[in-house]
Amino acid sequence: MAAKSILIGANMRILITGAAGFLGSHLCDRLLAEGHEVVGMDNFVTGKRENIAHLSGNENFRFIRHDVSNYIYVPGKLDAVMHFASPASPNPKSPIGYPNLPIQTMKAGALGTHNTLGLALANKARFMLASTSEIYGDPQEHPQTESYWGHVDPIGERSVYDEAKRFAEALTMAYHRFHGVNTTIVRIFNTYGPRMHTDDGRAVANFIQQALRGEKLTVYGDGQQTRSFCYVDDLIEGIYELLMSKEHDPVNIGNPEEITIEQFAREIDDLVGKKAGLTFLKEMRFSGDPQRRQPDITRAKKVLGWEPKVSLRDGLTKTVAYFKQEYGL
Ligand code: NAD
Ligand code: UDP
Repeated sequence: MAAKSILIGANMRILITGAAGFLGSHLCDRLLAEGHEVVGMDNFVTGKRENIAHLSGNENFRFIRHDVSNYIYVPGKLDAVMHFASPASPNPKSPIGYPNLPIQTMKAGALGTHNTLGLALANKARFMLASTSEIYGDPQEHPQTESYWGHVDPIGERSVYDEAKRFAEALTMAYHRFHGVNTTIVRIFNTYGPRMHTDDGRAVANFIQQALRGEKLTVYGDGQQTRSFCYVDDLIEGIYELLMSKEHDPVNIGNPEEITIEQFAREIDDLVGKKAGLTFLKEMRFSGDPQRRQPDITRAKKVLGWEPKVSLRDGLTKTVAYFKQEYGL
């Protein structure tokens, strides 16, 4: 099992940047449920007020509207700083996709990480960086272990995100090595579930929407590219364990069950039940669309005693219910 830090059991005061986002809002819920005090920060560039509306009136929750690219001031002592603020969708056709927010994405990863690390240093706080499987780029090693250095095009369409996160990891390790900040890095793989963006044009959202409308599901290329989808509750559990651990090195958190995009689309088409089928679009969405992505979670199992528990079918069932609720279906 995981070596727990002295933080465990204590009531902590924790800053979460990106609190109004998909993952940030689930983290707020989880930390509050564990008895911690949470300060949420967001500028709503891609997040939604509704994601945290249920927390207004909670005496352990406070919200600060702020852009993390600017100097951050939080009154009072913080025990942990979790930097999750960043656009996260790769879809160039979506207004919230990072190709359409290129400078904001680089600033959130670079300046936002610098500001949140400075805050952690000043508070002698535990720091967690939300990194991503994207730092592995279009990987040449499979599955991806934390020791893999990645295969990233520094000027490609996804580079504003990938390189910002790689810089953020380097800066996090610099603050750990040079300033002794108690940092950790979570490398998050594709995650889905309630409160995810319903219209960001990513595979989960597109396929569920299309299946609910009885339209053919649009698969880019031949659909043989793979992904590994993690249900949000599993991810949040892994992140919580990592926060409370003594780990400093990056840890992959994701579901290692690899599936082709074609199979994945068929699963959703089948689950929703209108069975309109699939249509294969000749072109890939990006020239650098990764061909394979699957986390090796050996480290997470070893140092955190964590592994995902929710099956794809169960996770998708809950996610489809969320989409129906959002669209009043
Ligand atoms: P999201 O878009 O739902 O949430 C990101 C939040 O950050 C939004 O509320 C947005 O308004 C806020 N934000 C962005 N820039 C900001 C800024 N400059 N100042 C303040 N707030 C800002 O995305 P998400 O899926 O919840 O992703 C959260 C984090 O997890 C991101 O750092 C992302 O890179 C990482 N991640 C997510 C996934 C995934 O599958 N969801 C995978 C890998 C990594
Ligand atoms: N994809 C697809 N049809 C869609 C949306 C996405 O075939 O309508 C493919 C996309 O080209 C990629 C995979 O699904 O190969 C996963 O895309 P997503 O945007 O979900 O996330 P990524 O893992 O690329 O960040």
